[in-house]
Amino acid sequence: MTDLVFRADAYARSCPATVVSADERGIRLDRTVFYAESGGQLGDTGVLRFADGRTMPIANTVKGDGHDDVLHIPAAGAELPAVGAAVTAEIDWDRRHRLMRMHTCLHLLSSIITGDVTGGQVSDGKGRLDFNLPDTSLDKVHITAELNRLIREDHTVQARWITDEELAAKPELVRTMSVKPPMGTGRVRLLEVDGVDLQPCGGTHVARTGEIGTVEVTKIENKGRQNRRVNIAFVG
Ligand SMILES: [Zn+2]
Repeated sequence: MTDLVFRADAYARSCPATVVSADERGIRLDRTVFYAESGGQLGDTGVLRFADGRTMPIANTVKGDGHDDVLHIPAAGAELPAVGAAVTAEIDWDRRHRLMRMHTCLHLLSSIITGDVTGGQVSDGKGRLDFNLPDTSLDKVHITAELNRLIREDHTVQARWITDEELAAKPELVRTMSVKPPMGTGRVRLLEVDGVDLQPCGGTHVARTGEIGTVEVTKIENKGRQNRRVNIAFVG
């Protein structure tokens, strides 16, 4: 189990850590700032810095076997570090910040459109959500205007934890059908955009919606009778 620094502080760019294991599947650290690909958000890239000045590029980050198990995937050809080695784990912050901005924007999108979220993806510079919705009259211009209004209003964004029992008593909090909140550890992380959205989420987010910057709905696709895919990108 890895101590997930980003969960309490999404703005942490680096942390000291110790190599716990290293094999063909990836490198495990005792703690990390690297977000592992999940919930539709891409895994982080970055470097591990060693005490002797060497650096190892990390090409991706994925989940391992258990809860909070994170595998750092080195770039092809990299020599694996020794178990016990002290490193500094450092993410590609500019890329991560773009992912945080887009991920937070998708929370705003899910508050604007009624219908259960059945899938989603946060990529570098763009993102999308799929909605279970028979209505084919979604309007790009209107949704774009609503998103940018919520962004300009600069709502605070905060995570807090509730128990499995509290969540079971409030099933309406779960809007994302495809990504069930990770129950079974006794507590669930809720992400709250003040006055706008509240739902379970384990991803990384910006602290205020104003930080997202201007966005636009680039395309609305009808993926089947009930499925509306709304695509978003940053403007400029
Ligand atoms: Zn989220």
